[in-house]
Amino acid sequence: MSIKSNIEYINELKAAAAEKSGRTGDDVLLVAVTKLHTPEEMNEAIDAGITDIGENKVQEIMDKFDRVKPVRWHLIGHLQTNKVKYIIDKVSLIHSVDSLHLAKEINKRAQQHDLTMDILIQVNSAEEDSKFGITTDETDQLIRDIAEQCPNIKIKGLMCIAPFEQDPNDAREYFAEVKKIYDKYVNEKSDRVDFEYLSMGMTNDFEAAIEEGSNLIRVGTAIFGYRDYRKEEK
Ligand SMILES: *Cc1c(COP(=O)(O)O)cnc(C)c1O
Repeated sequence: MSIKSNIEYINELKAAAAEKSGRTGDDVLLVAVTKLHTPEEMNEAIDAGITDIGENKVQEIMDKFDRVKPVRWHLIGHLQTNKVKYIIDKVSLIHSVDSLHLAKEINKRAQQHDLTMDILIQVNSAEEDSKFGITTDETDQLIRDIAEQCPNIKIKGLMCIAPFEQDPNDAREYFAEVKKIYDKYVNEKSDRVDFEYLSMGMTNDFEAAIEEGSNLIRVGTAIFGYRDYRKEEK
């Protein structure tokens, strides 16, 4: 299967899942996750219509940035405060904000570049120890704190990584919990809180996530095939 035909297939599944929740495929943004894949593969995806790329490591964004055709970049992995400065002028959306400390650093760097950074709050609704993100109970407070203290940040929504389940239907409850919070804020827009994205769903569970209300899916393996993690040792 080529990257192009994989993308076409995902777009079909995406549209079918969106229709089940009363929307169309165009209402759900496909972010192609390219970690451990080459700029050549990324450019192939962009030629096939991909407009948005997701990377989970700052270093990979820096290594590939100049070798990839114009595209929107998303930082989807855990972000250390000391690395914010490297990506602040490169990415369109940071999905993984889970502390006021990190938000303040993003705010500071955004100010220096005279820009407003769009972010999502990462919610760990299953409360898995192995994952980053805040609990659903902590979400309101963090949103309030960032909105009050970070004028160069716009909070655009929420992100969730569900536990890996053999049956993706078992992840639905975690998606649904985050959707509930999302819905509350969609109706409470302000200058700094302007919800537009609910980032949920990966290769294993994106159809269930869309049916539960996701409007942004982050898909890697189903587009590019399995990742060779040995490459990380370089
Ligand atoms: C790697 C990754 C993905 C994509 O995972 P696949 O299973 O390959 O689709 C999505 N989101 C995050 C945060 C990731 O790190």
